[in-house]
Amino acid sequence: MAGLILEHLYKRYDNSGKKKKTKNDFAVKDLNLVCEQGEFIAFLGPSGCGKTTTLRMIAGLEEITQGNIYIGDQLVNNLHPKDRHIGLAFEDYAMYPPLNVYGNVAFNLRAKGVDKKEIDKRVREIAPLMQIDDILDKMPVKLSGGQKQRVNIARAIIREPELLLMDEPLSHLDGKARQAMRVEIKRLINKIKCTTIYVTHDQLEAMSLADKIAIINFGVLQQFGTPTEVYDDPVNEFVASFIGEPPMNILVTTIAKIDGKFFFTFENSNLKIAVPKRYYSVVSDGFRCKMGVRPMDVLIGGEDSDGTPEKIATFENLGDERRIGIHVGDILLMLITEDEKRYKSGDIIKLEVRGEKTHLFDIETGERIREKQEV
Ligand code: ATP
Repeated sequence: MAGLILEHLYKRYDNSGKKKKTKNDFAVKDLNLVCEQGEFIAFLGPSGCGKTTTLRMIAGLEEITQGNIYIGDQLVNNLHPKDRHIGLAFEDYAMYPPLNVYGNVAFNLRAKGVDKKEIDKRVREIAPLMQIDDILDKMPVKLSGGQKQRVNIARAIIREPELLLMDEPLSHLDGKARQAMRVEIKRLINKIKCTTIYVTHDQLEAMSLADKIAIINFGVLQQFGTPTEVYDDPVNEFVASFIGEPPMNILVTTIAKIDGKFFFTFENSNLKIAVPKRYYSVVSDGFRCKMGVRPMDVLIGGEDSDGTPEKIATFENLGDERRIGIHVGDILLMLITEDEKRYKSGDIIKLEVRGEKTHLFDIETGERIREKQEV
């Protein structure tokens, strides 16, 4: 059974009163998505791409301009938020200051008139899951950011929602605490097995948590797939450069045919990379497109390598990996290496590129150019 279906969903805000009209009229444009029961889905995209608007429409907090939303089998377009069986954990964890943690977690069940004994049972079940059992007596003002985030999520899941909606729930935490909470969220969701939508602009968070990622740009869904699919098989330049840190290198290239073989060549650069045979059916001499390759697929060749000699422009030592930048025309091509040698700017290395790992994109549209499938 599907946990959530979004069908031709549109949202247009009424900006008629505003002096400055925005270019993009629709905050969400023709969004179609099917999330299976129990799946953990991340909505990922840059600021302003429509993630929160979509989440708020699912929650019933924002009116739909057009389209349908189903939670489970039920069309919820006209249902009040409280009747949608959802749990909400939003970025600003507004807690009730006069109530202690127990009171905050129990609040919604009390408001619904759930029996006192049942409330106590559920609070005491959830508290260890969220690791808040030792702070149930504490007042909100005495809590750390991480503890508030945990209470916030506990309040959302105590309702035993059919659908859990989280909007940047870790945004107020610093790097280390964020990483720790990420692990906790994963553990928790594995236990409660509830369909979850998780809004984030952090691709690392999406990659590490989600079963599937919906990548959105300018209100339009770009790709919906598993972390491996969107990383290894991006549908366009936007997805390719949004997923991965450091991002995929993307360079404009002109294909050159030399002695019967095709090569990627680059303006103002000697770099020449063999085009993998699988692209031979879609390229030709002089063909221009963009070539993408991830930094870990750019390598430093050994002494007898026939890679192109290139001068190092930047060198960063990050402890367990080193990042090297090389100018290819106007672009700084990044490579990641575990080579422990301390390079410095100006050093010459033999640059090799795993040709089989390259992706091609259309210069104008950014769409992926795929090799023709054999029939
Ligand atoms: P962020 O990560 O910054 O929260 P987002 O991807 O969640 O961004 P939304 O908040 O959904 O993006 O906004 C999508 C678009 O809709 C933006 O262009 C935003 O300016 C616009 N928008 C959001 N809320 C309103 C509103 N109440 N009235 C008018 N326009 C709005």
